[in-house]
Amino acid sequence: MVTGAARGIGETVARFLGRQGATVVLTDLNPQVEETARGLAADGIAAEAKILDVTDNAAVMRAAQEIGNKHGHVDALVANAGISLELTAIEHDVESWRRVMALNLDAVFFTAQAFARPMLARGSGSIVMISSISGVGISRPERHVSYDVSKAGVAHMARSLGVEWAKQGVRVNAVGPGYTDTQMLAEVGRAKPEVLQAWLSDIPTGRLLRREEIASAVAFLLSDAASGMTGHLMMVDHGYSV
Ligand code: NAD
Repeated sequence: MVTGAARGIGETVARFLGRQGATVVLTDLNPQVEETARGLAADGIAAEAKILDVTDNAAVMRAAQEIGNKHGHVDALVANAGISLELTAIEHDVESWRRVMALNLDAVFFTAQAFARPMLARGSGSIVMISSISGVGISRPERHVSYDVSKAGVAHMARSLGVEWAKQGVRVNAVGPGYTDTQMLAEVGRAKPEVLQAWLSDIPTGRLLRREEIASAVAFLLSDAASGMTGHLMMVDHGYSV
C-alpha cells in the first residue's frame, strides 16, 4: 500500500514493488491515481487504485480495513504523500502551518497506526516513511521551515515506532531522498532555474536522483533482506547530507 502514488516518487515506488512481484494498492487524493494504476496493470503488475485523502483519518481506517479484507492482509506500507509550501517563518499562519503538519506528520502517524494494527496482531509487517534531506539539514533557500520540521519529525517517528513495535515483529524505517527528478522539481526548474542550478551544484554527483534510486531503497527496507533494520533513516541523496 503506497500513499501519494498518483505520480512522482510514490508512483515509481509502486511500480518497482510491483515488478518485484508485490500486489500494490496505489492510493492518492488525486483521482489520476486510477489511470496510474491502469498503466502499471498494463505492464503486467498486480496494481489497483483507491482514492484516499490521508488527512481524513476515518477514511484511512476504512481503507486499512477494506484493503486488509480484500487481500487477506497488508505486508507493507509506504507513507509517501507529502507537500512543501514555500513560505518564510514570518509568512506562515496557523492554516498554512497546519496544512503541512496535517499531511507530512499527522497523516503519516495515523496511516502507520491504522495499517500497523493488523500487522501487530499478525506479528509481521514493514513500514517505510518518506523523510527528506530537509529532515537532517535545512532547505535552501530558507523558506521551508514547516517542511524541514515535518520531515525531521518523520525521521524521528520512524525511530520511535521502530523501537515501540520491534518486539511485535513490525519494522519501521524512513528514507531520506535528496533532490529527485520529479514533476515537483521540474516545476521549480521552470519557474526558478537559478534555484535548480544552485541545488545541482551542491549535489556531489551534480545530477538529480532518479526516482528508481529512491524506490530500490524503499523496496530493500520493506523486504526481509533488511530484517535487521528498524528505526533507521536511510539517506538516498548522492552524498548531499554527508
Ligand atoms: P509529488 O507532489 O509529485 O507527489 C505527491 C503525491 O501526493 C501527489 O500525487 C499528490 O496528489 C499526493 N497527495 C497530496 N496530498 C495528499 C493527501 N492529502 N492524501 C493523499 N495523497 C496526497 O511529490 P514527490 O516529489 O513524488 O514526493 C513524494 C514524497 O517524497 C513527499 O513526501 C516529498 O516530501 C518527498 N521528497 C521529495 C523529494 C523530491 O526531490 N521530489 C525530495 C525529498 C523528499
